[in-house]
This record gives sequence, structure tokens and C-alpha cells, in this order.
Amino acid sequence: MQFDLTILGSNGAIPAYDRFPSSQVLNYNGNIFMIDCGEGAQFRMNKFNIKRGRLDNIFISHLHGDHFFGLVALITSFNLNWREHPLNIYAPAGLEEIINLHFKHSKTQLRFELSFHHITNDKPVKIYEDNVLTVETIILRHRLPTTGFLFKEKTNLRKIIADKITEYNIPHQTIIEIKKGADFIDAAGNKIANAELTLEPPNPRSYAYCSDTIYTESVAEQIKGVGTLYHEATFIEEHAERATETFHSTAKQAAQIAKLAGAGKLLIGHFSARYENLDTLLNEAREVFANTELAEEGLTFAV
Ligand SMILES: [Zn+2]
Ligand SMILES: [Zn+2]
Repeated sequence: MQFDLTILGSNGAIPAYDRFPSSQVLNYNGNIFMIDCGEGAQFRMNKFNIKRGRLDNIFISHLHGDHFFGLVALITSFNLNWREHPLNIYAPAGLEEIINLHFKHSKTQLRFELSFHHITNDKPVKIYEDNVLTVETIILRHRLPTTGFLFKEKTNLRKIIADKITEYNIPHQTIIEIKKGADFIDAAGNKIANAELTLEPPNPRSYAYCSDTIYTESVAEQIKGVGTLYHEATFIEEHAERATETFHSTAKQAAQIAKLAGAGKLLIGHFSARYENLDTLLNEAREVFANTELAEEGLTFAV
């Protein structure tokens, strides 16, 4: 099953050096989930060939403009392109008012349903669930109420051993039951135990998005064992004081959270416009957590 992340925008606050404000898309088996929608996100979707028709769920971390200024434009384009199916937006309550005000004064009547799901940030809650995925909020600490998002794959089906299908002549329609743990009864009535036919399922994959936040160890608690962690890394260590003042993190602090959480991989982003070269951010993070990459625009990472 495909489960990957494409970075559309990697910068904090002000766009700089061709870097756009925050936005990412997760692709789970062809379904697209957007996380934050900074200015210009739809241009980046076009550039990186993201299929917008498969985008039904958008998650907004907080109401600083660098995380949602692209949304009115994206929704407007959906409308002009005759979208008909509903679009879900998970965000702090104020966003509904902001978006509706735009459409009220532009006398825009949307052809599709825009469903707002209001996020609170007093405790982590499950805000989305389908057959294969759940999404929980992560409580972050920033200048506005802010939540991250933890995407978790549901427990996988067992893996069937391909050779056994031919060996026992297993009909196609029974494979799903075997993957769920059933034994197989062959044409002669012999029972073949599930353990002989299948392997343990692979560990469920998970992705945590944490932007924007001051260094907060409780975040690591909540995302223990996460496969891939994106954590904001607005500043280098030399500007650690500035990070604290503005409720942001340094690259080193992002790496400390990854280490505490026992994450498999760390992606850092939300870079300050003051840095053209990002090497120092990367190096400082790698000193603490070796498996770190820059979440640069256009890159796709397997979760
Ligand atoms: Zn921001
Ligand atoms: Zn912010």
C-alpha cells in the first residue's frame, strides 16, 4: 500500500529563496490528505503533479497565515473546476468564519459541501478514521492554539506467502479471509493452518506532523515509536533565544524530540527566511539524531 509524503512548502512565515510557506500532502493508496495550506500551495500541487480530485481532507494546524493563506484560493479553484463531492477541513473554529467571510463578500456559492470540523487543543483526540487510517491531534505549544497531527495505519492484514497459493490451489476469493487469520480447507477437506500460509503483518506505519511549537517534551510522549516525524526547525542553535521568544524550535530541539520519541526518521522544516543555506540546520539536527533529512519542496518520502 502506498503511504508517502510530498513537501509542497517548507518555509516559515515569509517565503524566501523559492521556498513556499508550510504545506504537505500525504498519499495513502491514492487518497490525498493535505496538512497545512500556505500561500501558493495549489501552484505547488500543479508543479509536483498532486491529483487534486483525490483530495477530500485538509488538516490545518493553527491560524497563523503561513499555514492557511492558500486555502481560499484552492477552494475557489475546486469550485471553478466543478467539484461536486464534499471537502472536509479540520481546523480551529475561527477558520470557518474566515473562509465564509471571503465567500460572503465575493458572493460565491460553492457547488460542493464544505464541512468544517472544529479542533480544540486541550487534549489529544481522534479527529478522523476510515478503514485503514486514523488521525489524532497532537497538543503543541505556540502563540496560538496549535495542534499537530498523528496519522496511523490500522493494524495490517497478515501477509500471505505467494508460493502457498499455488501449492494449495487457494481460490482468489478466500485470500482476504486467510489474510485476516482464517485457516484454509482444501477441496479434499484437509485443514491447512493459517500459520503455515501467512507471515506476521508488517508494523503499522505512522506519521507525525508537529508545526509550530516551542520545545515540548510531552509531544515525544504522545508520538512514542512513530515511524516518520516532521518537526519544525525554524532556527539554528545560535538563535535559540529567538526560538523561545517566538514559540518555535531549533533544529537541535527537533532532533531531541525525535530521539526522545524513538522515531524512525526525522524531517525538519518551517525554515526561517533568514537562512538561505540550510546545512547548519541539518548538521545540528544530525548531531543529535542521525536519520534526519531536510523537508525540502518537491521531495517525496516513504512513510
Ligand atoms: Zn508558521
Ligand atoms: Zn505559527
